[in-house]
Amino acid sequence: MIAHSSQGQRLTPLLSLRYAFRSDEFWRDLDHWKDIDAELFLNHLWQEKNAITSVGALGALIKNRISAAFLKDLEEGHRMAPMSIRLTPYILSLIDWDNPYLDPLRRQFLPLASEICVDHPMVKLDPMGEQNDSPAPGLTHRYPDRVLFLATNVCPVYCRYCTRSYAVGLDTDAVTKTKINAPGERWEPALRYIEANASVEDVVISGGDAYRLKARQITEIGERLLDAPHVRRMRFATKGLAVLPMKIQSDHDWTDAISRLSDRARKMHKSIAIHTHFNHPNEITAITAKALGMLYERGVEVRNQAVILKGVNDNPQTMHRLNECLAYLNVRPYYCFQGDMIRGVEALRTSLGDSIALEKSTRGLIAGHNTPHFIVDLPGGGGKRDIHSFDYYDPYLGIAAYRAPAVKKDQVFLYCDPLHTLTADAQALWTNPATRTQLLDDVLKSVK
Ligand SMILES: *Cc1c(COP(=O)(O)O)cnc(C)c1O
Ligand code: SF4
Repeated sequence: MIAHSSQGQRLTPLLSLRYAFRSDEFWRDLDHWKDIDAELFLNHLWQEKNAITSVGALGALIKNRISAAFLKDLEEGHRMAPMSIRLTPYILSLIDWDNPYLDPLRRQFLPLASEICVDHPMVKLDPMGEQNDSPAPGLTHRYPDRVLFLATNVCPVYCRYCTRSYAVGLDTDAVTKTKINAPGERWEPALRYIEANASVEDVVISGGDAYRLKARQITEIGERLLDAPHVRRMRFATKGLAVLPMKIQSDHDWTDAISRLSDRARKMHKSIAIHTHFNHPNEITAITAKALGMLYERGVEVRNQAVILKGVNDNPQTMHRLNECLAYLNVRPYYCFQGDMIRGVEALRTSLGDSIALEKSTRGLIAGHNTPHFIVDLPGGGGKRDIHSFDYYDPYLGIAAYRAPAVKKDQVFLYCDPLHTLTADAQALWTNPATRTQLLDDVLKSVK
């Protein structure tokens, strides 16, 4: 089908209008970058060099766009946050600074004191217990056939709700980070463990973020794992495509390293993919489309793992738009995670009930293979479960129990909705230690 463009002069396919990703020089909107041309802005080294890593630097950059009250809110929010601040100029300039309170990208990365909600008494710093299922530093072996390898603990940006708040990023006023892997020989025990375990067929290389691995490190880890006969599948996890997409075009070494690995894997009938992390359609621009197009041409498969975040993507229109845009760009929407029970970011969590409703209202709008699984990654190491598969859920008390028979046979795993989604009466049952213990006992008894 075709339609006239708004000027009525050119015939443009209607479909492409729906996917006319932002291609203006949006960063010039901020005084600080008004003289930066596209060539410089599209260089990943310039992006890295100009990354914003403190509230002070951020304040200086946006001060004539925001109110003093907003800045104070931000400074106070940052003092209480579990994650350090790091933003690329790309993502910072996609934030609507005339509307910073509501902006979905601001909400993902920049904490405000006025938004902080009381932590549920059951939240933790390492809710998944990754440090418990760990046979070597930086390695988690929870599922029979696959392992999670944390090869770095740094990222191109820091997300407020990071599941690895215990380790990722710099120390903050609120959290001193557990040191996991640093590059070099500290990878050796993890790689040896994988090589020695024939049951490991699938390796997730994460962190931190694989964008932070140098080309030669990607090659080193990738080649070594491809050489292990039992390793069939590998994924490199990075939020980079959402926050620093220009790297795919300007960092030839990195992109070539991934492509070469992918080509070699294919010749060996093995597979390599990138797992990325888009949460909102505003993260997708013409720059993203170019980067993803290039990876697609080179045959590198890309899948997406989003996180359901209150006030960011927890409405059906946004969620569907995200999936639709990803599908258009040949990125497979793989998972959509329920927010983890981490300290300090309750404002971003939804209740299970709301996430289930979100899943119901979006399923069916797009092909099944472009519909993500809605998942809750269970506190205590139960692993990822379909959000609908609870054995018990009481939306009034905001508590659910799940079993994971294939992962940890006899255990019951609990997930709690954030207090701000409950009534005052229900909240009181949680904040009083005696009623809380009783309530937890009752739930466990009812599923035993
Ligand atoms: C998420 C995760 C994996 C990969 O799980 P998939 O369901 O295959 O995506 C593997 N190990 C750990 C510890 C994980 O958290
Ligand atoms: S990019 Fe991933 S690992 Fe890094 S801070 Fe964000 S969620 Fe955490």
